[in-house]
Amino acid sequence: MLDGVVPFPPEYAARYRQRGYWEDRSIANVFAEVCARYADRVAVGDGERAVTYAQLDARATNLALNLLDLGLRPLDRVVVLLPNTAEFVYLYFALQKIGCVPIMALLSHRYLEVSQFVKLSGAVACITPDRAKDFDFIALIQRLQAESDTLRFGIILGEARPGFFSLRDLTDRPAVRPVSDLAGIAIDPTDPALFLLSGGTTGIPKLIPRTHNDYVFNSKMAVSVCDVHPDDALLLVLPIGHNLPLACPGLQGFLLRGARVVLSTSARAEDVFPLIQRHRITHIHVVPSLLIRWVNDPRIGQYDLGSLRVIQSGGQRLQPEVRLHTERVLKCFVQENFGMAEGLLMFVRLDDPLDVRRETVGRPICPDDEVRIVDDDDRDVAPGEVGELLARGPYTLRGYYGAPAHNARAFTADGFYRTGDLMRRHPSGSYVVEGRKKDLINRGGEKISAEEIENLILSYPAVQNVACIPIPHPILGEQMCACVIPQPGASPRLEELVAFLAGEGLARFKLPERLEVMNDFPLSPFGKVSKKDLVAIVTTRIEEQKARG
Ligand code: AMP
Repeated sequence: MLDGVVPFPPEYAARYRQRGYWEDRSIANVFAEVCARYADRVAVGDGERAVTYAQLDARATNLALNLLDLGLRPLDRVVVLLPNTAEFVYLYFALQKIGCVPIMALLSHRYLEVSQFVKLSGAVACITPDRAKDFDFIALIQRLQAESDTLRFGIILGEARPGFFSLRDLTDRPAVRPVSDLAGIAIDPTDPALFLLSGGTTGIPKLIPRTHNDYVFNSKMAVSVCDVHPDDALLLVLPIGHNLPLACPGLQGFLLRGARVVLSTSARAEDVFPLIQRHRITHIHVVPSLLIRWVNDPRIGQYDLGSLRVIQSGGQRLQPEVRLHTERVLKCFVQENFGMAEGLLMFVRLDDPLDVRRETVGRPICPDDEVRIVDDDDRDVAPGEVGELLARGPYTLRGYYGAPAHNARAFTADGFYRTGDLMRRHPSGSYVVEGRKKDLINRGGEKISAEEIENLILSYPAVQNVACIPIPHPILGEQMCACVIPQPGASPRLEELVAFLAGEGLARFKLPERLEVMNDFPLSPFGKVSKKDLVAIVTTRIEEQKARG
């Protein structure tokens, strides 16, 4: 097994096998069979392209052989930042076929994030577009290669150029190696098949190893509670690098059913509505902020969106008014789910009573998901009381990759993952989200670690001390506000701070959107900055500002 991965204890592994959850097959093996079974059906739609299951498998196989030829080997780590295109899907399955481990990064990540992923994982390759809007990925990879001992390959979506291979070329150019070379690759299904990124509560991001066994099971269970049939079509507008669109049920789950997956690089209403109409889309994964934009868009009435049956909302609390409004406007089921890249998934079931659909985020998808709600001393709270959610189960990680000190805090001694989410058990047995203990900002479903940004802002010369907090936003749910105590005589300004952070190479979605300058911070009885009090102070300031107009 890959060094740095925390294995499931043998007695749990035995139980998960005995109950049929773990099949001891690689992702590549499972999907090769799926592609053979549904060969002539359309698997993936991308722009004008319709790719059948047989074509998907053939292209992934060809790409896998070419990647093998380049020198990629089983368990090599590969950082992937790509848009939602068919090439991403070919690449994902190609890497699976040679047992490489993709690190599912986001197109919005920049130098600070990607350099950490390379360092943490010891990645040998980075696969990106050549450019995206105003950003030059070629320069990024060159900088990373200059700084890294492991990063040997730069692969780009566009044309090949000196020092870089072209992903399209590697996919299309007929491989010289025989297909039988793939049969010789031994993949241990208890090894990680991919690394997802943690929503982040620490200064440095954490990598989440998802094994072949647990990730196939994850998608099988997720698709079983989402009313998916072979003639259905899923629209993927959320980045496929995220757990939800990739596997909950997402791309993997829909392919397991022989259904269609339509990819979109845009989440704008004017692009999404025509796609739903044209492809007769039945399911979409959303975060609430997207749904709010779509259902309030005046163009919604101009399209026939009647094919939609299920909108799956997760990543952030869905306001009840948004659910009701959507169900009224689109006449479809808004299925809330509560999940995390670390594993545990809860879904509202389609036949749940009205109160469960309206008030809860559903219940776990597997009977062997073990869930506890505990107080600060790890004691179970009384039924219906609020506490922290702890989770353990057949598809929930046992430890972050290569992070033993952090794991000692993030897991109980008996292997429950401390989610940092505050929950309450509803009388129905489903769960209600009541808040969180963890120090992050949930900006439209993207998580920002307060500590990560605070560490960066502390290196900004005009700032003596900083605390980052969430402030409410009507669409995104939350935005980040940086509260700062300036250095004597300095007067930090938001635009200058943002320019500094962007210049350091921080992803744009993590830049503070408000700056509050203060003389001191409120302290808790233990002498730590009280973020709760800070939120209250800033909220009052915002309200006073609004009142003044
Ligand atoms: P990620 O791993 O980035 O998907 O983030 C997981 C976290 O998102 C969870 O631990 C929750 O804090 C939050 N989350 C996910 N789904 C929901 C939901 N339906 N309602 C409220 N918070 C959610």
